[in-house]
Amino acid sequence: MRAAVLHKYKEAIQVEDVEISGPKKGEVLIRVSATGLCHSDVNVFLGHTPAETPVVAGHEIAGVVEDIGDDVKDFRRGDKVVASFIQPCGRCRNCVSGRENLCETFIANRLRGASLDGSYRLHLRNGTPLKAYMGGGFAEYAILPETALTKVPDELELKKAAVLGCAGLTAYGATVTTGRVEPGERVVVIGAGGVGLSIVQLLKSIGAGEIILIDVIDWKLEKGKELGATTTINSLKTDVVNFFKGIGGADMVVESAGRPETIDLAMNLVKIGGRIVLVGIPPADASIGIRPATLIRRGIQILPNHGARPRTDLPRLVEMARTGKYNPEALITGEYSLEELNEAVSALLNGRSLRTLIIP
Ligand SMILES: [Zn+2]
Ligand SMILES: [Zn+2]
Repeated sequence: MRAAVLHKYKEAIQVEDVEISGPKKGEVLIRVSATGLCHSDVNVFLGHTPAETPVVAGHEIAGVVEDIGDDVKDFRRGDKVVASFIQPCGRCRNCVSGRENLCETFIANRLRGASLDGSYRLHLRNGTPLKAYMGGGFAEYAILPETALTKVPDELELKKAAVLGCAGLTAYGATVTTGRVEPGERVVVIGAGGVGLSIVQLLKSIGAGEIILIDVIDWKLEKGKELGATTTINSLKTDVVNFFKGIGGADMVVESAGRPETIDLAMNLVKIGGRIVLVGIPPADASIGIRPATLIRRGIQILPNHGARPRTDLPRLVEMARTGKYNPEALITGEYSLEELNEAVSALLNGRSLRTLIIP
């Protein structure tokens, strides 16, 4: 099959013919309809996330079940599915205690690009194992455990459901499972990318009060307004900290830009007793300064959020999309072929896109 392979960080991604074998026990072979391009993919391409190479990235996968392995219970050939970027084993302590978004087996294999049993389903033509980073969706086919999958109803256009697998799922975790937003709360969202604009939509749907969106790109802020932000701020033009001095702090600040300086900014925007939810992923070696005296005296909680639970939350999110409470289509700014993946990466890095779909 054709796959978009990264051989070396910062080099161009090449489309080539590779071997795929499986599905094995508990796994499903998916014919990919579309895979969304996320900033986490770009982190791999640039070496900011030290994933092993050669690698096929792509973790917002929607497609059709082509084949199933032994013991697959819930899916059959022809089912339309969306995959979570987290692929839970279903057996580790975190999985069995209701925190499968922190599956220990998945996290142990993630950078290696291996399946949950530690082996590889993809190989280069010369026999070298080809790593699949969080799914390997930039290809014609992908093999995923059934635990990662949710069926997509006919009312939803399959391609557009791809966005639910990371941007949507992360937004669900940030606002519902981790953020526990209550009706009427004032929430600040930093970063108007695919995740940030998904968060804005969910905040509106679950009844937050003021939704204040901060970014540096005006057209993204405009989009945020259309999707439910009550106030938008371009932080290049407005002194954000001063602005909040005038109106008081926020109950919750969600940082989706994945930058140390905006995480620092979040600490200046949250009110006493408020919470900061971290969802944007900075480079693996980035660190932030924490002012313990401020956190302790002001009772500020910093809550990291890794996606949401694939088998509990992704079906709920699909239902929100089906009933019009979350619109993945609003995030999609273009479609590219596998061969055009490098151009899609440039568009994302240059602030010209939110979510582009890569169509194999
Ligand atoms: Zn992602
Ligand atoms: Zn697990």
